[in-house]
Amino acid sequence: MSKILYVEDNPQNMRLVRKILVAAGYEVIEATNGLAGIASAERDKPDLILMDVNLPDINGLEATSRLKAMPPDVSEIPIIALTANAMHGDRENCIAAGCDGYLAKPVMKNELLNTVALFLKQVSSPKATSEVPSTPNVPLTNGTPPVATATLEPPKEEPHTPDASPSNGTSAAASEPPKQEPNGMPKPVSNPSNNNSSQAR
Ligand code: MN
Repeated sequence: MSKILYVEDNPQNMRLVRKILVAAGYEVIEATNGLAGIASAERDKPDLILMDVNLPDINGLEATSRLKAMPPDVSEIPIIALTANAMHGDRENCIAAGCDGYLAKPVMKNELLNTVALFLKQVSSPKATSEVPSTPNVPLTNGTPPVATATLEPPKEEPHTPDASPSNGTSAAASEPPKQEPNGMPKPVSNPSNNNSSQAR
């Protein structure tokens, strides 16, 4: 039976997550603040840690950093951060602190179980992401509508054509060829002597 340490100060979240995990056959160890979580991780050696980010003493990211600086029997325990702040940069902050995965609150039952199963199977492959397909489910916090996890795509890089003639100094936009009508007729231009005609007949 896999042991999961859940570090969470909110009793309602604790109760609901525990219920889900116990029903799925996991043993759940509880800690209600960051320092207690660290102590439990060292003492109980759980197989996985679910780490709330907003905790009353040290926050979950600080607790994660401390755990990841410990000897391998502790530092190799995968840590999945749980945060209500589904804001830009949150995921990056979690990963930077050493978290192995990330779940945005309110946590969905299926997403939680999928992510937990994924990390328990892949303990030896750190830095795996928790990007599992989330199935719509009952939110854990009553009354709060589920917040869509903002997946922030990096800005798409436009495929720039390399400047073939850097000496001429014109930008790519300035050197666009004149627009042609769909039938191949050249667009009317003000200069009648423009020898741009390409009538292929
Ligand atoms: Mn909290």
